[in-house]
Amino acid sequence: MLYLVAFVFGIAVGSFLNVCIWRLPTGSSIAFPPSHCPVCSKPIRARDNIPLLSYLLLRGRCHSCAAHISLRYPAVELLTGLTWMLLLYHFGLSLPLAAYGLFAAALIVITFIDIDHQIIPDVISLPGIALGVIFSALGYGVPIVDSALGAALGGGLLYLVAWGYHAWTGREGMGGGDIKLLAMIGAFLGWRGVLVTLILGSFSGALIGIALIVARGGDSRLPIPFGPFLALGATCALFFGDALIRWYLQIGFAA
Ligand SMILES: [Zn+2]
Repeated sequence: MLYLVAFVFGIAVGSFLNVCIWRLPTGSSIAFPPSHCPVCSKPIRARDNIPLLSYLLLRGRCHSCAAHISLRYPAVELLTGLTWMLLLYHFGLSLPLAAYGLFAAALIVITFIDIDHQIIPDVISLPGIALGVIFSALGYGVPIVDSALGAALGGGLLYLVAWGYHAWTGREGMGGGDIKLLAMIGAFLGWRGVLVTLILGSFSGALIGIALIVARGGDSRLPIPFGPFLALGATCALFFGDALIRWYLQIGFAA
């Protein structure tokens, strides 16, 4: 029953995250005007604005003009709903649940904005760094020293990688957005979380990157955003980081 509440709450949050993903990069307000169809500009009726359900009832079309509604909207809602169930399972009904719920929301918004626009908005990552440290100071996350160390390591490591890549190739490989994102991840997950995130993010990014380059006919110059892979790595680090580190150490000692 509690999981159902978490899921319903999650898809409602996801519905709000859709608005953020859509409006933050254009600099428009996330509160006004009320939700409207991007094609016919007609306001969306309250009964057509129910997360997940309305998409199914409307069969993915606008009530007024029958334009296709992107599958992205219900997908983000579903993703957020499932994430909240996982968060509840992991943290129980607690204050860390709220703290890491905010963290997960930030990762979801950043992922889709980065896919669409190849930017990671400072208005999310910079307050995110501060929030991660504050939650730790209040005792709702990793220990405060670990949080500060994680933010410094996350930002510092990627700064070095970006600097090295630029010095080596003369090309801009990684944006400042990625640097601030990993600093935010470090503030929430600590320095171990940063390492797990970076390893998983680089590995999955390289796999998908090679697949995309092959699919695009060998052109390696098209930008592939790194933010979604860092977010994916951070999500794995959040839920499975301890297990992964234990497993890794066991292999290390066995060898
Ligand atoms: Zn419409």
